[in-house]
Amino acid sequence: ETTDEISRIFDALCEPITYKAHRVDVSVSMGVTVFTPGTGELTEILREADIALYKAKSDGRGRWAYYDAILGAAHASRLLLEAEVKQAIVERQFLLHYQPRIDLATGRIVSAEALVRWHHPKRGMVSPGEFIPLCEETGMIIDLGRWVLEEGCRRAIEWDKAGLDMAISLNLSPRQFEDPSLMEDLAGFSALPGFPHGKIELEITEGVLIGSDDEIEHKLEELEDMGFRVAIDDFGTGYSNLAYISRFPVHCLKMDMSFVSQLPESGPIVRRILSLASQLKTLVVAEGVETPEQNRWLQEHGCDQVQGFYHQRPVPLDEFLAIVTERAR
Ligand code: C2E
Ligand code: MG
Ligand code: MG
Repeated sequence: ETTDEISRIFDALCEPITYKAHRVDVSVSMGVTVFTPGTGELTEILREADIALYKAKSDGRGRWAYYDAILGAAHASRLLLEAEVKQAIVERQFLLHYQPRIDLATGRIVSAEALVRWHHPKRGMVSPGEFIPLCEETGMIIDLGRWVLEEGCRRAIEWDKAGLDMAISLNLSPRQFEDPSLMEDLAGFSALPGFPHGKIELEITEGVLIGSDDEIEHKLEELEDMGFRVAIDDFGTGYSNLAYISRFPVHCLKMDMSFVSQLPESGPIVRRILSLASQLKTLVVAEGVETPEQNRWLQEHGCDQVQGFYHQRPVPLDEFLAIVTERAR
């Protein structure tokens, strides 16, 4: 009954308006909560309605959502996480783990992907899946991402100075890529003494390139000029229109792990990705290699490099260096 009532109000609000002979379409998102006179504060009710409105919007807009205790709790824990991440950025509770990338022709570790971890004072090590999406949404990714880039660049400089022939890959989120301060930051890092040209790769996702314009093309060219390489992360999960990719200066395709995990059934599509990479003369890396069978299949079909638990999980810096040293012997 209440639901019918709400729908009636909602539908009425959605009606187009006529203004000076123009039809104006309106789109409505609505948050609903119940107020029992004599209980609670009005401000509390508005807060609840606002939380429900937020839910309606994040569910795709043009709809209404109802406030309940579960929604309230989810909102509270989100706020807590947001405050904690903010503090964590200031207190530098983040660190990078490194996952080796192996060249299939030589069996050597040629590169490392830096993956951010949050050393939470109470919860211990928290994985990026738990906070990167929130950081993306709130814009906190800009500060966190800048730290990752600086840390990664400094590491690459250090390795190069020490005579270690090791590339490094850093993840860039879409929001970070769009941020005007990114190019300035990267220009600064590339001007650091001892910056190793061509040794630092930036991973972006396909979404960044889709429907894009000259501005993005220009940005990628600028990155190349600064001495960064560009990789497409999770390649194959976005769009199957492959034409767009030849437009851009891309150095590496990182095939998404969903293709690798379905080998050999996914063989035809993996073959197509490999042949595309060879036509474009880009390096191709398979992610998420977990079994010797997957590794062999990829080796036999001309994949350049692999990364995955079969070879090594992401590990802290000192452990990564120990593995590299051990292997060199
Ligand atoms: P990604 O860039 O695609 O990184 C690969 C993810 O796959 C990592 O998860 C890695 O631990 C995991 N992985 C590697 N090998 C295997 C395997 O054999 N099997 C399986 N099942 N998983 C494997 P992680 O570290 O949890 O990172 C998740 C995502 O978080 C990353 O996906 C990346 O999108 C994002 N991320 C991590 N660090 C950063 C960062 O510094 N900045 C930004 N913007 N995003 C980051
Ligand atoms: Mg990545
Ligand atoms: Mg990936």
